[in-house]
Amino acid sequence: MEKAAENVEIAVLGGVGFNSYMEFESQPVHTPYGEVTAYLTLLKGKRIALIPRHAGKNHIPPHKINYRANIWAVHALGARSVISTNSVGSMRGHSVGSFVVLDDFIDFTRNRPSTFYDDTTVHVDVSEPYCPEISEALRNALGKQGISYTTGIYACTEGPRFETRAEIRMMSQFADVVGMTGVPEVILAKELSLCYASLAIVTNQACGMTSQKLTADEVTEVVGKAQDAIFEIIVDTIENIQETRNCRCRFAKEGACL
Ligand SMILES: [Zn+2]
Repeated sequence: MEKAAENVEIAVLGGVGFNSYMEFESQPVHTPYGEVTAYLTLLKGKRIALIPRHAGKNHIPPHKINYRANIWAVHALGARSVISTNSVGSMRGHSVGSFVVLDDFIDFTRNRPSTFYDDTTVHVDVSEPYCPEISEALRNALGKQGISYTTGIYACTEGPRFETRAEIRMMSQFADVVGMTGVPEVILAKELSLCYASLAIVTNQACGMTSQKLTADEVTEVVGKAQDAIFEIIVDTIENIQETRNCRCRFAKEGACL
């Protein structure tokens, strides 16, 4: 794989919390899946690449995000650690604006390329989908800020429509929060042996959990209000990510290839 000489250490995927990223140094990254624009900056003495998921000419809808290109770009820039931010609806009554550090996922997506390996068989290990070290750094950052949080299981739906009440009743048996952008990103990160963890922000109650209609506006509003808090949490997490990885993420492909 061609590697850009950027020596990026950590990638942040999502874009929430980084209001001013357009002022960072923009870096086009060519991947076999298309071009990605990364925004490079220095935080806590570490080289960071921000890749905004929805940025395009228009807001890119979740089912059209080029997940493979984004994760390939992370790797090509040299980053081995990824902090992802994901907006979620709660199926457990979490308060709006609170945070969930994801510890597992269930995949209800349908039409997304979810592997880099179409010509060989690779059964990547996802028994620990989210990196325990980065997740711990996220939990510590939340704790330091005095922000209450939980850990939980993420259900990923295809979208772009919201879920039905019956779907939420079903999914709530197995998962805590629901969103549309976390999968296949987490899987693709594993396939490239990256460390990947996700900070989910609760933007709404899932369909049927309250009597109110669910709107995209309320999601945007909550995310907007939480920008500063999210930035602080991410900066703190970046500071605490160790250069040496002691987790098992880098072995995810060992014994996976037929
Ligand atoms: Zn890891």
